[in-house]
Amino acid sequence: MLLVIAVLSISAAVLMLLHPEVRIFGSSGKASENAGAASESALTAASGMQDVSGADFAAAGSAAGTSSGVSAAGSAAGAASSVSTAGNVIAPQAVTESSLAQSVIPDRSDFAVDSEKTGWNYDNPSVKTIYLTFDDGPSKETQSILDTLDKYGVKATFFVTAEDPSCQDMIKTEFDKGHTVGLHTYSHEYSQIYASTDAYFEDLRKIASVVKGEIGFVPCFIRFPGGSSNESSEEYCTGIMTALAQDVQDVGYQYWDWNVSCGDGTTETTEDTVANATADSGLTNIVLLMHDAEDKESTADALPAIIEYYKNKGYTFRALDRTSTVCHHKIAN
Ligand SMILES: [Zn+2]
Repeated sequence: MLLVIAVLSISAAVLMLLHPEVRIFGSSGKASENAGAASESALTAASGMQDVSGADFAAAGSAAGTSSGVSAAGSAAGAASSVSTAGNVIAPQAVTESSLAQSVIPDRSDFAVDSEKTGWNYDNPSVKTIYLTFDDGPSKETQSILDTLDKYGVKATFFVTAEDPSCQDMIKTEFDKGHTVGLHTYSHEYSQIYASTDAYFEDLRKIASVVKGEIGFVPCFIRFPGGSSNESSEEYCTGIMTALAQDVQDVGYQYWDWNVSCGDGTTETTEDTVANATADSGLTNIVLLMHDAEDKESTADALPAIIEYYKNKGYTFRALDRTSTVCHHKIAN
């Protein structure tokens, strides 16, 4: 009797290691309030995030890892063969598709504005987390910023405007790449949007319509021009920020301010932009204000150094989602 020897061949298994380097780190709670765009330069006082201990933020990690839904990231993950396990430093020349595989794309199925969903997270996270946020785009600078984010496998948040219609389709590109799209403003004209609460919501409806046309729904995340702490609005309507802060939440939105700014509203050089963005890294949870407006070339140029700095410091980069710690300034009007 012949013995038939079956040879089992083991096909190659691809092991993808997802291990964002995280360390427990104390929070100083210190706030920064550099002005944003030129029209946002009148900011003064702003408190930082509520500095409370946050066991609840543990939920964010599991939620973020549950779903991808973005085909580009998924295919890149399959192709990755050299995912670094050595730590959180990714050399620019070594990161292309492999770093995309490390991206954490949140489950975005519940991102649409919904007045029934009011369970926002006000606790500080226990792991070092940074949210890169870009206001005032999309513009001709946006592609460069997206390329850098891709290169490092980092997801960010874009609070968009409709100021450059020729770049409007970039909103869909941002979303399709796994970034979070939020609403900033349609016109960015303070005299219009802060004339009354009705005027603000009329502007919000306009940008919401633009965004829905690009990504299919109206996102719940918003950022007020100038931040909720802006005092410029008082010139047009006393008390409007106090009213709007409540009104937007009553209809299901949540607004995010920032606790660190790269200062690109007034800073001209790449070096200063990096210095501002990295000046206050004692915070556990950082919401970093940047701009991808057309004249912000220095911000795009500074982005690699900013990302490398925070990767070296052990921060996890995330795009905003419903589990992100809410960051509110102290309202001044
Ligand atoms: Zn703005």
